[in-house]
Amino acid sequence: MTVSDVRKRYLDFFTKRGHTVIPSAPIVPENDPTTLFTSSGMQPLVPYLLGQPHPAGTRLADSQMSFRAEDIEEVGDNRHTTFFEMLGNWSLGDYFKREQLSWLFEYLTSGAEGLGLDPQRLYVTVFDGDKESGMNADTESVEIWKGLFSEKGIEAKLVELGTEERGNEAGMQNGRIFSYGARKNWWSRAGVPSRMPTGEIGGPDSEVFYDFGLPHDERFGKECHPNCDCGRFIEIGNSVFMQFIKNADGTFGELPKRNVDFGGGLERLAAATRDNPDVFLIDVFDAARGILEDRSGKSYADPSAIRSFRIILDHLRAASFMLASGIRPGNSEQAYVLRRLIRRSIREADRLGIKEAVLAEVAEGFGAAYAEAYPFVRAEANLIREELEKEEAQFRKTLTHGLRELEKMGADIDAFTLFTTYGFPVELTEEIAGERGVKLDRQAVQVKMEEHQARSRAGAAQKFAGGLADHAEQTVRYHTAHHLLLKALQMVLGPGVHQRGSNITSERLRIDFSYEAKMTPVQIAEVENIVNGKIAEALPIIRTVMNKGDAEKLGAEHEFGATYPEQVSVYSIGPKDAADGDPRFTEAFSLEFCGGPHVRNTRELGAGGKHFKIIKEEASSAGIRRIKAVLE
Ligand code: ATP
Ligand code: MG
Repeated sequence: MTVSDVRKRYLDFFTKRGHTVIPSAPIVPENDPTTLFTSSGMQPLVPYLLGQPHPAGTRLADSQMSFRAEDIEEVGDNRHTTFFEMLGNWSLGDYFKREQLSWLFEYLTSGAEGLGLDPQRLYVTVFDGDKESGMNADTESVEIWKGLFSEKGIEAKLVELGTEERGNEAGMQNGRIFSYGARKNWWSRAGVPSRMPTGEIGGPDSEVFYDFGLPHDERFGKECHPNCDCGRFIEIGNSVFMQFIKNADGTFGELPKRNVDFGGGLERLAAATRDNPDVFLIDVFDAARGILEDRSGKSYADPSAIRSFRIILDHLRAASFMLASGIRPGNSEQAYVLRRLIRRSIREADRLGIKEAVLAEVAEGFGAAYAEAYPFVRAEANLIREELEKEEAQFRKTLTHGLRELEKMGADIDAFTLFTTYGFPVELTEEIAGERGVKLDRQAVQVKMEEHQARSRAGAAQKFAGGLADHAEQTVRYHTAHHLLLKALQMVLGPGVHQRGSNITSERLRIDFSYEAKMTPVQIAEVENIVNGKIAEALPIIRTVMNKGDAEKLGAEHEFGATYPEQVSVYSIGPKDAADGDPRFTEAFSLEFCGGPHVRNTRELGAGGKHFKIIKEEASSAGIRRIKAVLE
């Protein structure tokens, strides 16, 4: 089946069973400054799983665009991609285990309405209890699965494994249902039951695996079992049963309203319908794969080329969705992830022997592949082509020079010089060093980079082609304006205001901060006046490196939830006569943990007669406001 068939059948199947289909949330979360990307179907629904009523009702289904930057190193095997779609269905206090497992099984096996998979190829896992917290095994799910397999004439034996290690020893034992402990088959936001705080909800889950029938690979353990990573079994979906709440005394109570959360990998399900475990062979990659084969003269099946093929296919699909979603390649946050995807694709194309621009051509086909489900990708075809061409033209030169130098360095790879002289990204050097078994001293590189950034700050206009330090002058000004703004907000709205997220481009700054109410026009004007006043005062900005503890004692502002190293850099703004090396912290107007860079003096923000202006103040999420501001 095609990806479209699998998706459509899923949504139709659950619509027929009383579900409302909701649209995929954007790939960049709208109301969650703590994460860069939407990485599962559950993520945008968390508020509803925690009790808020959903406007579309108690039975929901969707296909969610998901991106997992943390899987970037996994791309290259047959089943991981950074971008994928997660099929999801939810019961919000409505149906529970029996309906969920029956429907899922029917969807997977029915030829008429579902995927028509052979039930003999399906294996399932369940929760087998947790001694530490006294949580019982999920025997209900075991009974339901037994019944479902039995209807297909399959006797489903339960094999209790507990851990992966045990599975590697004990193996299949003719089992169909396999039970594992809390590390594998328990869901909560905090992890295993004993780690959950009071009031947190959680519950057992049950995964479904497809048996691709490959021989077991003993490098992954003596024996095979569903959770073995050898590639025979691939997880295609997971049903989470949110059933319990943790009491203050450490015991668990049943939730009055129990939820179901199901997430299944669309690409992997499509691969199962083809009975081929390689997700890169599904239809959505066909056009792109063909172009790469033509341009490289190599076959996808060539073992020395397949990893490069897969990385390019994955990364350019992800990049197309990101570009069409409004992300542009750049140097921070989502923008940098996008840039990294593009650059990695260029490097892999180079390895395939493709020495001329190829990215835009390869990405062309994704618009058509997703024309029905995500028409916005095709609608942005021109933009995607232009951005890819631009990045490729820039980075090809860097890559050629950098690789040449890297070859000359032999085993003494100097990541710092490669970066400062050729703009060669440090993490790319690390990857290449890793492939060659050369060890890089990460710490040393980091320290040098820090020093380098501090020096380059002195001349804010200084630029390094394509490198991390490539902040446009205007972006640097906005960084400094951001600090002034946060302090001004605290002065006007109260000391309880703290930063909850930020995003800075060369066009504007954006800050999310904790505050309950909408700001009044008077408050907004007051904040603007304070910031403009500090710009007019021409205050110096001073960077000091100090112990994290010392900085905290000084009351330096830092971002909620962020983790900082032992040595941090702190930026202070003012007083007027403070000097480098003599920062006069106690009299500073603003003091923040920050990596920089910043301007040297607040007067640079007013250059050319510019003023600080708040252009938007709005709710971002419960208790969080968002401001967009410009210097104009
Ligand atoms: P895996 O162990 O294979 O990485 P996971 O435990 O991270 O999977 P979940 O977080 O449970 O997976 O996600 C739900 C479903 O999404 C999985 O059953 C799988 O089908 C799919 N999935 C997860 N990660 C990826 C990925 N990187 N590429 C493609 N599909 C994925
Ligand atoms: Mg994973």
